[in-house]
Amino acid sequence: MEGLCVEREQRSRTLYVYVHTFGCQMNEYDSLRVERMLAQEGYESTDDPASADVIFINTCSVREKAEQKVFSLLGRLRRLKNKNPRLKIVVAGCVAQQLGDALLARFPHVDIVLGTRAIGALPRLLRRSTEEDARTAHLPEHDEEGWKELFHQDHRWECPVVAPVTIMQGCDNFCTYCIVPYVRGRERSRPADEILREIHIITRKGTREVLLLGQNVNSYGKGLADGMNFARLLRRIEEETDLVRIRFTTSHPKDLDDELIECFARLKKLCRHIHLPFQAGSDRILARMNRHYTAADYLDKVARLRSACPDIGISADVMVGFPGETEEDFQATLELIRTVRFDTLFSFRYSDRPFAKSGAFPDKVPEEVKARRLTELQALQAAITLEKNRREVGRTREVLVESESKAGNGQMTGRTSQNRIVNFAGSPELVGTLVPVRIREAYSHSLRGELADGSAC
Ligand code: SF4
Repeated sequence: MEGLCVEREQRSRTLYVYVHTFGCQMNEYDSLRVERMLAQEGYESTDDPASADVIFINTCSVREKAEQKVFSLLGRLRRLKNKNPRLKIVVAGCVAQQLGDALLARFPHVDIVLGTRAIGALPRLLRRSTEEDARTAHLPEHDEEGWKELFHQDHRWECPVVAPVTIMQGCDNFCTYCIVPYVRGRERSRPADEILREIHIITRKGTREVLLLGQNVNSYGKGLADGMNFARLLRRIEEETDLVRIRFTTSHPKDLDDELIECFARLKKLCRHIHLPFQAGSDRILARMNRHYTAADYLDKVARLRSACPDIGISADVMVGFPGETEEDFQATLELIRTVRFDTLFSFRYSDRPFAKSGAFPDKVPEEVKARRLTELQALQAAITLEKNRREVGRTREVLVESESKAGNGQMTGRTSQNRIVNFAGSPELVGTLVPVRIREAYSHSLRGELADGSAC
């Protein structure tokens, strides 16, 4: 009864949700879903946790630091809960999935722990938590509530120019350093019609470019009845939607086939960019990682991509200090970087993760060796990236304008098809349009240019 009164009182004023996201783009998409779901329940988003009625923390445990940051944030939130006992604190994502009830025990001010397959249950659990003042950890084995918030008749949420759309969840690959198959479960592809329906909704609300998300989008379609695969999905999105651009991430080299490579040559809306993690350049280390390709296989895929689409931008993830990595193995990684000449590279030091098989591997690499290798690798890549950016100077590139630049000063920001960030002087009316920009200056992480003829493409 008391809970119902509180709920009535809360409903008479605006309710606010503060969302804090750690980790990957999949988490960002889930956080977006949460904001959409809670918008249907009358919540507005706020950047100020102190004014929030609900604090939603989406966690990641892929990297050790991210997990520590979650614990430290939760520690700081205790003060807000003490001030406002009606505040609901929700923890979701990989850390929530791994720790479950233990998270409730360790942080008594946390109200709801949501597993990675439980996002859709949040509105129901929040209502129950308010009515019954109950704390709960909900970790279902399967997605129970699906993506129904996307198809609610009253789409009150906003859509950005570039919007993520998850096409699959989980992973079947069991790379030895990774916990995704344990915390996100086995691979599940969303039906193509449902994906298309979501894209139709968000394009009507202003989205021009979609970022298709999955841990391994190349194997999309496994288990679907209609014989769909990723290349076919891309062709349907190209033909049946009003988008101007399509991107996707992440690809696994072993599943990148010729049918998909061909899409880069044929599909007009598909951005000329691929993120293709290689992780290591040594075949011995790749085998220990359970990656199912060799350095030569990887280089062959890169050659096929460049043959189909000569100006394709290629980025990747790489790791240093995997257990057993010798100096010779590390040199093989540097050699692969020199050969491919990536446009950008996301590089990490290996660290043991709970559940990951590699945690039990012998021959751990000392931290100081990992640090030295990472510095050397990053210096090599920084020089390549800058040189490749400088080659853009003088070219005119089509840029999808995403927003005003954070720096202000009448600067707009967007990306080229190859995924380079471009800043240029322009007006906010250009947001959402494709414009030709002549590149004038190159930096390490971005380009600066000017409108080539002042009009949208
Ligand atoms: S492909 Fe490997 S690294 Fe990527 S999510 Fe699956 S198991 Fe993890």
